[in-house]
Amino acid sequence: MTDAYVRTIASMGTVVTIHVVGHGANRVDETGRKRGVDAALAWFDEVERSCSRFDPRSEVSQLSTRIGARVPVSDLLFEAVRFALAVAEESGGAFDPTVGLLLETRGFNREYRSGAVVRTALEPDDDATYRDVHLDADERTIMLARPLVLDLGAVAKGLAIDMAARELRGRSFADFAIDAGGDLYLAGRNADGKPWSVGVRHPRDHQTLFETLRVSNVAVCTSGDYERRTPGDDGGAEHHIMDPRTRVSASTAASVTVLASSAMVADALGTAAFVLGPERGLELLERDGVDGVIITPALERFATRGMRAEYLVEGRSSGFDS
Ligand code: AMP
Ligand code: MG
Repeated sequence: MTDAYVRTIASMGTVVTIHVVGHGANRVDETGRKRGVDAALAWFDEVERSCSRFDPRSEVSQLSTRIGARVPVSDLLFEAVRFALAVAEESGGAFDPTVGLLLETRGFNREYRSGAVVRTALEPDDDATYRDVHLDADERTIMLARPLVLDLGAVAKGLAIDMAARELRGRSFADFAIDAGGDLYLAGRNADGKPWSVGVRHPRDHQTLFETLRVSNVAVCTSGDYERRTPGDDGGAEHHIMDPRTRVSASTAASVTVLASSAMVADALGTAAFVLGPERGLELLERDGVDGVIITPALERFATRGMRAEYLVEGRSSGFDS
């Protein structure tokens, strides 16, 4: 016998849903289930408080008010930035968490859900890169060596998903789905006792799915050029994934979906592969041992060798099973 419990909140500029399935012996009692899901969801607000560039009080925003100073930060922010810098290094700077001011000046200056406008009182320094972010692992400090704004939009959601999944597992939940605006972690089995079914959206026709995957105990994160475009899009407008080398939106991919055991890894590598484009993006995913599918604007499909056949399901269904 199975039963399910679903809760949704608004956080991190999107809608976050946790769906817990109880299968026989794995079932957590009702109070424990509610507490567990609340504790898991609380991680989203917690990560946002540290990592959101849209909140002037967040830790990450505070760093930009203290350029040149070694600022002590929380473990959450430290780990998010450390990981983002590693991906920046690995992608040769295609991924670069210092794109905050560039995004702000390009019109991405509103919190996606509330619409609150941010305006950072810094003169943009076009030469600033991830190399200007200095970490001290012993002191747990971050120092910005040039005027810049860190944008952790490509890692923070994944980090929050990982923390939420860890919270649930630590409380003996085995079967659950975490959905943060289409970035997912799927644990165990769905209500039918089967692996979870995840749809990869068609990047140009949102009524249909490009393909459907069957997955278990894995994160599935997607970056798409159809998400978060500048307002007043008339064809010349931009979307939210910047190529730091050209300083305009990356244009050689339409969407990238990455599967990895960590959502933070899937989230960031998907964004990195998006900027690198199909050939070099695929190389990056292969090198890092994660699976992924890159769909180009011309709708060509590039998949990693490890994109195993067992993931793929014939036919088309919608979303993931409930
Ligand atoms: P995702 O939604 O995971 O594809 O990540 C996109 C988000 O990452 C954007 O909304 C920005 O917050 C941030 N971002 C944009 N361009 C880059 C880049 N080149 N490197 C790192 N992060 C980026
Ligand atoms: Mg991403």
